[in-house]
Amino acid sequence: AARCAARLGVTARETLLTNGLDEGILAVALGALRAGRPEGAVEAIIPEPAFDMYAACADAAGARIVHVGPQPDLGFPLQPVLDVIGPRTAVVFLTTPNNPTGVPVAREQILQVAERARHALVLVDEAYADFARTSWIGDPARRELPNVVVGRTFAKAYGLAGLRAGALIGQPATIDALRAVLPPYSVNAYAVAALHAAFDDPEYYEWYLGQVDESRALLTGALSRLGVKFWPSAANFVLAFFGDAAPSVLAGLAQRGIVVRDRSRDPGCQGCIRITAGVVPHTAACVAALEEVLCGAR
Ligand SMILES: *Cc1c(COP(=O)(O)O)cnc(C)c1O
Repeated sequence: AARCAARLGVTARETLLTNGLDEGILAVALGALRAGRPEGAVEAIIPEPAFDMYAACADAAGARIVHVGPQPDLGFPLQPVLDVIGPRTAVVFLTTPNNPTGVPVAREQILQVAERARHALVLVDEAYADFARTSWIGDPARRELPNVVVGRTFAKAYGLAGLRAGALIGQPATIDALRAVLPPYSVNAYAVAALHAAFDDPEYYEWYLGQVDESRALLTGALSRLGVKFWPSAANFVLAFFGDAAPSVLAGLAQRGIVVRDRSRDPGCQGCIRITAGVVPHTAACVAALEEVLCGAR
């Protein structure tokens, strides 16, 4: 935990290592709803489109879920979120950059939500913040807002998805309350060994971030050339709109051995596919397949 904290630029008392960030999300849901219950704060606010685990964990913790519908441009719905924050709000889930859109939430927007929801916990899920190279962790406003908890994972930029390692970062009292709702030994010895190995190998991390930058440029360049609408992403994927052609694009890519994520069922994302921008040769293969599929179809 100490090494992880140092890597993230905080103290060990501000850090809670978790069994993947998914467990961190569950801890936030349990902690927020438990603390809020005497006063009747039972609502979890989820701006859509959102990562599935927020609703799953809030539901498991007994929350009433308040979904905030997507904006037409899939940007962060600031005013609608502010409008639904009330005395019954126990937790607000924010993701920056967002999954599945890649669109970041502006610092001022996080500030406004955190200030309006001072009586609730606000999770700033930074699963993809490594790729955006910005974080709430180092923000001076973090000191004044004990209700904000940052979520990080070592699954994405560090490549440890199957080993399960994530972290929550917040003020010591906030983190202590979240530690109390988790089992004491949820992070296993293999994950800890893998974290040490990952922190010993900063070259891999920097290399992968560079690959993502290059891949994202390659992919968005190709999508522009092909006339496909996409959302400007700060993450290691790009959400692209294929409309009615989405099913045939999915099938055509699959035939060529390229696996992408159908996001058609996410709110506001009908006809959308999320394409990973990871290792450059993989992205180049994906772009070549996409060109074949789209140009062959015309
Ligand atoms: C992947 C992801 C997580 C969970 O990460 P794990 O550490 O694998 O549990 C959390 N939030 C978002 C937005 C994600 O995309």
